[in-house]
Amino acid sequence: MVGGRSANGGWPVVGVLALQGDYARHRAALVAAGADSRDVRTAEDLKDVSALIIPGGESTTMTLLLDAGLREPLGEFCRAHPVWGTCAGMILLAKSSGDSRIRPLELMDVAVNRNGFGRQVHSFEAELRVSEELGERERSLHGVFIRAPRITKLGEAVRVLAWLGDEPVCVRQGTVLASSFHPELTDDARLHRYFLSMRG
Ligand code: GLN
Repeated sequence: MVGGRSANGGWPVVGVLALQGDYARHRAALVAAGADSRDVRTAEDLKDVSALIIPGGESTTMTLLLDAGLREPLGEFCRAHPVWGTCAGMILLAKSSGDSRIRPLELMDVAVNRNGFGRQVHSFEAELRVSEELGERERSLHGVFIRAPRITKLGEAVRVLAWLGDEPVCVRQGTVLASSFHPELTDDARLHRYFLSMRG
């Protein structure tokens, strides 16, 4: 690895924010997608990577951990490199979350409602319709939703990559990607590969 670029087909070396949550599953999914990855816990760790995944977990806890010195360098990194937030990660990328305990990074012009798809007992799986941009449009994506955020407002610059019924559940704005479900919990590496192909 040289300067955060993988020798492996030009994929970025992906950092996975490893403060809390299911970061290990993302690292395994990145291996399956053919990419190098690193855990990111400090600002120093960001120097070794050229893209970042913010995993699912608990956005209230992640807010507290980010506020212990990582918020600023992380925000700066995410404005310059591709970033993908899944579930709690999506909440942290949004403009607002409807919960005063969460201080999102405000990197994407979406408003979300935390736990908008229900609490733990309401976790569910469903087939998602995908946009042409994701490829294999005829093949649905299997979505695992765990206390998932619901998108309540979409800015004009945000495009939708996957829908649950008519609702957007995977969105992109520039080099910021967000999904309310957990692709790292399935064997389908399409979204990981899509993220790897995103360039600034
Ligand atoms: N509901 C959780 C939160 O608010 C997110 C759940 C998840 O990431 N699976 O942080």
